[in-house]
Amino acid sequence: MSIKGKINKIIDLSVVDGPGNRTSIFLQGCNFNCFYCHNPETIRHCINCMDCISPCPTKSLTNENGIVKWNYKTCINCDECIRVCKHLSSPKIYNWTVEQTVERIKNNMPFIRGITVSGGECTLQYEFLIALFKEVKKLSLTCFVDTNGGICLKNLKQLVDLTDYFMLDIKAFDNDEHIFVTKKKVDIVLENADYLASIDKLFEIRTVTINGMDNKNTVDKITKMLSKYIKQGHKIRYKIIKYRKFGVREEFSKFIAPSEKELEELKSIAIKNGFEDVIIV
Ligand code: SF4
Ligand code: SF4
Repeated sequence: MSIKGKINKIIDLSVVDGPGNRTSIFLQGCNFNCFYCHNPETIRHCINCMDCISPCPTKSLTNENGIVKWNYKTCINCDECIRVCKHLSSPKIYNWTVEQTVERIKNNMPFIRGITVSGGECTLQYEFLIALFKEVKKLSLTCFVDTNGGICLKNLKQLVDLTDYFMLDIKAFDNDEHIFVTKKKVDIVLENADYLASIDKLFEIRTVTINGMDNKNTVDKITKMLSKYIKQGHKIRYKIIKYRKFGVREEFSKFIAPSEKELEELKSIAIKNGFEDVIIV
């Protein structure tokens, strides 16, 4: 039987998820729980509590033998179901085979250079990714992975071999700060950063910066750690992301972004440590 992926969302044409136009595929389920997550409904898998069925204004959700079923044809994407879900999940999940997913990608073929899989944390569904990437490669499209680095990529060699490049979130260098943001330790994330840079598969590092966190320490330590690979000629972009409230859970919306002055200082630190491609977004 063909392996299936749990897909939260597909953006057919995206220009912010890697080089060129790409089809971005967001998989359901995450091993982190970052307080500033902009799509917290991707974090957990649905537990079929049925709380979202009656609030749906178009009756697009039904209980079929204890499983919530979503009718995408009648859904108006009002997202009321996501608002009422207390389990950081969504009933609007595509449970698709590789073949179904590839058919969707093929529709975008004249306009895209490749695909990017994101989440949630897409590497948790690595068997689906391996099967998907094998098919996507046959179409001469590139395959990028956007990951939180929370599972050991050295142990997923087949996935790494099939992936053209990775984009890695590093939320903080300091372990306590990383636990504060994600509820998980940072050690494996840093090991993955070093591993991906060493094999020249690290396209981009992303750090969300927040006023009050030690952003300077994070940018300084990460760029120093990876500078030896930059000297070897590996191209790694550092994307410094300003914290934004959009989509963040209400209880965590009190945080603010650093000042423009601090953001420019962070950029200068990365450049001083040898990074050439540093952007603030
Ligand atoms: S987004 Fe959710 S609540 Fe709104 S119509 Fe679709 S299934 Fe119903
Ligand atoms: S999406 Fe959330 S509210 Fe709806 S059935 Fe699943 S867990 Fe319950």
